[in-house]
Amino acid sequence: MRVAMIGTGYVGLVSGACFSEFGTDVVCVDKDVEKIARLEDGIMPIYEPGLDVLVENNVKAGRLTFTTDLKEGVKDADAVFIAVGTPTRRGDGHADLSYVYAAAEEIAEAMDGFTVIVTKSTVPVGTGREVERIIREKRPDADFAVVSNPEFLREGSAIGDFMRPDRVVIGTSDERAREVMSDLYRPLYLIETPIVFTTRETSEMIKYAANTFLAAKITFINEIADLCEKVGADVHDVARGIGLDGRIGKKFLHPGPGYGGSCFPKDTLALVRTAQEHGSPLRIIETVVDVNAKRKKSMADRVIAACGGSVEGKTIGILGLAFKPNTDDMRDAPSLDIIPALTAAGARIKAFDPEAMEEAQKLLDGIEYCDGAYDAIDGADAMVVLTEWNEFRGMDLDRIKDALAHPIVVDLRNVYDPTEMAENGFSYSCVGRATVG
Ligand code: NAD
Repeated sequence: MRVAMIGTGYVGLVSGACFSEFGTDVVCVDKDVEKIARLEDGIMPIYEPGLDVLVENNVKAGRLTFTTDLKEGVKDADAVFIAVGTPTRRGDGHADLSYVYAAAEEIAEAMDGFTVIVTKSTVPVGTGREVERIIREKRPDADFAVVSNPEFLREGSAIGDFMRPDRVVIGTSDERAREVMSDLYRPLYLIETPIVFTTRETSEMIKYAANTFLAAKITFINEIADLCEKVGADVHDVARGIGLDGRIGKKFLHPGPGYGGSCFPKDTLALVRTAQEHGSPLRIIETVVDVNAKRKKSMADRVIAACGGSVEGKTIGILGLAFKPNTDDMRDAPSLDIIPALTAAGARIKAFDPEAMEEAQKLLDGIEYCDGAYDAIDGADAMVVLTEWNEFRGMDLDRIKDALAHPIVVDLRNVYDPTEMAENGFSYSCVGRATVG
């Protein structure tokens, strides 16, 4: 079995490396020459725990190769995965499918013999049909099937998610394609991963329904957290109290500054757009999009309030810039809303993130990037926790107090304990729990 992975980003590189670990020959293709050159030198283009070792082992074993030459990669492949980006299209919120369609055209020219073309990118319902049309138009003679196989991995735990997924979804009505996909995912049968075989349209829809449901769950607990603050309740106990109900589930009930990242913001917008186009609006998701956008913008106000109503001329030490821990991904990170708002209000920003500072520097200027967490809060008027990296969870409270000019901590990820912070003399504010000090 030979696989070509078109697009060697977070999803393409992880999926390619994992398939090769399962024993499949994989060639990862990307048009980014620098990315491929670095990968050939053993340098990872992204930070993802465990990825460097996985790639190194499979390259050494001869199962994983890299190329910028799509034709070369595709010509002998049994399955060609499209794992290119589907960002928000400027102006209308729809998914920009230009990279997917461009890849389809190139694949059409290169494929040889029966080929399964798999959309792994998150694509709106109907995209698989259009990919098929594009290929058929270019190559009326070709023997191929277009399958939908959305990816559910999370950045930061991507390898574990790919190798031990809750489920695999495969959308096809072509028997030969089903066989190829079954062969590819056969190693997961050992751990009894449920495989959902369905139609292509349903599979495309499952991915958006999953992501928008999760975005709604986060937004729900965020609004409950705001209400908890007003009525003197504790959102963590509320989350536990409702999450133990099997119908609700414990996960995704952690309040924070609003969801960000490369998937939820664009996928919620795209599904809203699809629903509107089909005259079947998703009012819940429209509200989720709106509430979350406002929430991210309003987080700077919390910091300003904690600093006594103004940050003019004050220094704020920010811990964490990535949209979540264990990734360097800055796409739609809450820090991109919060930091400019604080700067606009007259604050000077010092910041530290263990992995995302190189990416952050491309997007956020005018801030001082620091060498470590204590360095970022040294002399600051307040410390703000924006991303819950492990190293920010257990910092020495005495050292924090010594470093800060004023003992003000705004914890937007609720990693510290309000009582302990008060006992240690901090003015501490968090999300959905009593503010103390
Ligand atoms: P990414 O931006 O990290 O990577 C996309 C890669 O595709 C880039 O390296 C780009 O150079 C390459 N590319 C674009 N057009 C190409 C072409 N014609 N030929 C070769 N390479 C090409 O994107 P990503 O985060 O990996 O996301 C890819 C898709 O997977 C998106 O649809 C996304 O919604 C979906 N997805 C992402 C995640 C995630 O956590 N990042 C999880 C599940 C699904």
